[in-house]
Amino acid sequence: MRTDPIVLGIAFGYLALLFVIAAWGDRRAEQGRSIIGSPTVYALSIAVYCTAWTFYGSVGRAAEGGPSFLLIYLGPTLAMLTSPFIIRKMVRIARTQRITSIADFLSARYGKSVEVGVLVAIIALIGITPYIALQLKAITLSHAVLMNYPQAPELRMAEESFWNDKSFWVALVLAVFIILFGTRHLDASERHEGMVAAIAFESLIKLVAFLCVGLFTVFVIFNGPGDLLATARQTDDLTRLLSLDAVPGGAVGWVGTLVMAFLAFLTLPRQFQILVVENVDETHLKRASWLFPLYLFAINIFVIPIALAGLLIADAGQDPDSFVLTLPLSAGLEGLPLLVFIGGLSAATGMVIVETIAMSTMVSNQLIMPLLLRSKRLHLNNRRDLSGWLLGIRRIAIVLILLLGYLYHALLGDAYSLVTIGLVSFAAAAQFAPALLLGLYWRGATRQGAIVGLIAGFTLWCYTLLIPGFAQSGWLDADFIERGLMGLEWLRPYALFGLENWDIYSHSLLWSLLANTGLLIGVSLFSQSSRLEQTQAALFTEAQHSSLVYRSLWQGRTTQGELRTLLGRYLGTSATQRILMTDEGDHGNEHPVAPETIARAEQALAGALGNASARVLIHSVVQGEALDLEAVLRILDTTSQTLEYNRRLEQKSRELARIGEELRSANERLRELDRLKDEFVAMVSHELRTPLTSIRAFAEILRDNRELPDDKREHFLDVVVWESQRLSRLIEEILDLARLESGRLTLNPQPLDLVTLTQRSIDTLQHVQNDRGVTLTVDIATDSSPVIGDPDRLEQVIINLVDNAGKFADEQSPQVHLTLTRHKDRFRLSVEDNGIGIAPEERERVFEKFHQIHQPGASHSQAQGRPRGSGLGLPISRGIVAHLGGRLWVEDAPTLGGACLVMELPEAPAQPRQHEDAR
Ligand code: ADP
Repeated sequence: MRTDPIVLGIAFGYLALLFVIAAWGDRRAEQGRSIIGSPTVYALSIAVYCTAWTFYGSVGRAAEGGPSFLLIYLGPTLAMLTSPFIIRKMVRIARTQRITSIADFLSARYGKSVEVGVLVAIIALIGITPYIALQLKAITLSHAVLMNYPQAPELRMAEESFWNDKSFWVALVLAVFIILFGTRHLDASERHEGMVAAIAFESLIKLVAFLCVGLFTVFVIFNGPGDLLATARQTDDLTRLLSLDAVPGGAVGWVGTLVMAFLAFLTLPRQFQILVVENVDETHLKRASWLFPLYLFAINIFVIPIALAGLLIADAGQDPDSFVLTLPLSAGLEGLPLLVFIGGLSAATGMVIVETIAMSTMVSNQLIMPLLLRSKRLHLNNRRDLSGWLLGIRRIAIVLILLLGYLYHALLGDAYSLVTIGLVSFAAAAQFAPALLLGLYWRGATRQGAIVGLIAGFTLWCYTLLIPGFAQSGWLDADFIERGLMGLEWLRPYALFGLENWDIYSHSLLWSLLANTGLLIGVSLFSQSSRLEQTQAALFTEAQHSSLVYRSLWQGRTTQGELRTLLGRYLGTSATQRILMTDEGDHGNEHPVAPETIARAEQALAGALGNASARVLIHSVVQGEALDLEAVLRILDTTSQTLEYNRRLEQKSRELARIGEELRSANERLRELDRLKDEFVAMVSHELRTPLTSIRAFAEILRDNRELPDDKREHFLDVVVWESQRLSRLIEEILDLARLESGRLTLNPQPLDLVTLTQRSIDTLQHVQNDRGVTLTVDIATDSSPVIGDPDRLEQVIINLVDNAGKFADEQSPQVHLTLTRHKDRFRLSVEDNGIGIAPEERERVFEKFHQIHQPGASHSQAQGRPRGSGLGLPISRGIVAHLGGRLWVEDAPTLGGACLVMELPEAPAQPRQHEDAR
């Protein structure tokens, strides 16, 4: 079954299917019924990130470095998680500025600079070609493995010429395919809906193929993951693979790879194409930000199992990069290996297609067009329709890029494994990151800074990764790797400036990015930028709110005829018609066009030719500065100033509102206090008036009736004395309360023993209670109870509690019971009685000032000669206890059934206790 015709037939059949999907996608797009208007398709197309490098190489890398391959996928995961900020901003800018590639993006950011565009395109060309080579290698290698198994694959005889080399033909077939696929018409240069649909489809296929091999390995070859792990653990080498320290370069290697993958995900030309240029709807980012990481998770989940199984089973000497294929082959299967081959083909072709389209756009827009526009002799003015020309340029670029990839593969490809080639490209793409990221957020980054930074970063990348690679494949004298350039130790490319023992990628990344970023910032700080640069910088950094001002600021003049000729030449008649027709209608060639139309024309040209060329072309027909840059800048500045101002205002008003709220509640508190004070004064006056009234009444009787009998007179005088005592007690209490509340109550806290104090109070009380017929029992369940307190005040509290209990205990046989116990690090003194108790709703109210529960039988107290209460005892007691860090509350009486008042005080720290003991 694995004969060449069948395998080739299936491969070509698959390519044809892709083509049909792409054509269908394009047709639907033309009809306005886009099939890629779905966030899922967008997320799947982003998975073009997983190339043959993932499909075959991850297992290879896992077989050597354990879980380190995961970092390549954690980087993009991080990038997608930050997509609400970075990628969304890029997408917005790309839409308003009609960006066609990352080179175009950077060129537009730095004043539509031709130089920046050229530089980025060249770096991409040199840096990414190895990556394309890698895909070609993967396709031919997998084909060879498929055909030759169980023999080792024979790739190419050294003496044979290139037409016997399958990779060459693969490259050519792909070139034709991509030309048919990606450059069918010019205005598709902005977006390639058909291509995106096909790429999303390929992403599904490669995922399914990989999962099939994984499931087959784990559940058919082995009896589930447990079995596989158990078998692997019997071999020491494999146990090591499962641990984290198998990563080359250690912790530095981890961080380096992660950073590199993060940056490359944003800057690789194909990722930029799919993520930014092909994005049709900004909101798609939302789903992609979790769906794409999920995809990465799914496609990586079986990597380690396959690597382990491959190492356990496959014959020694098999290339780990081919385990995905050789495992099912070794089991004697026919269908699954073919599916895997198609999966790998999907991964490889997907990458090659997108990368080549992105690169060809870059080459034609950033390299060739500016050249053509500049050279006077080749001036294109006398040619009529140039849109065909443009497509031609792009097609040639596609062929050349693929041939370059093939050349790299043929000359160097075998020196590096799949993974290393990929990482070299990643490090190259990462060089765009400083100019890109700083350019997005720092308005001060200038064109000169970007140029110098890019050159420095690229040079260091060449010196630390690319050239040593050449040397290792024997194209250069490898001597300088060991001994440094011209024998200078500190110029060794893998240990630059004496930085040794780093893995070569992190090493290269550190130096190149350091130089790149440092120079970008440094030069930017000291260089002047032109008006256009400043405007573009402002438009990029303020991308959220810039499109509104942009259109209305065109001031140059041109006629419809001139514009029509220009557009027609580059975009074709129908596109020109669309652009010119929309608002004004046809007024003849001499009619001056509206500023918005010039803006639209420049954007349309930018979509096809890149921003730099579009600017040059528009300038060739527009008299005067096309764009009123001063005004744009002014408006942008005012917009951002207004925004800043608004933000501050908002903050201020929020603050004011908060302060207002605080004031209001403070005011309310004050008013409440005021009300309480009035109430207090009223109550105090009322309480004072009662004894005063009776004193006065009796005093008047005594004055007016001089011949009262002696016993009467004596009784009246007794009442006067009695009431005066009550009055002064009341005043004393009121003063206490006032001091407590104002915080002026001077307590005299000292270490004391609550047991001693309680006993003393009881001694004082005992006879009073006995006089009243109250049975007072005491239960002290602790030897000593050191607390900090004011002895006089605490005694006052205890007396008040016992006194109350006696007052309110049962009339017939009054009983009061006092207990002192320890509760963890606190002491509790509770006083209960057998009276009618305190109802739950009154339990807090009894602590309010002057509050006395109205009890039907309460009058008896006076009858029995007990003093009438003031309602101040409990509030004062609670205040005192609180001052000493304790609590006072009412609860159900546990034994006697009446009320129970509990006072709790914290135990004194050890030291005062010693002090006490010492006394
Ligand atoms: P008074 O001087 O009236 O005792 P307090 O503030 O000490 O003032 O007590 C407030 C009110 O709480 C008392 O008037 C009484 O109604 C109620 N009360 C206090 N202790 C008891 C108790 N042991 N049993 C029932 N009611 C009590």
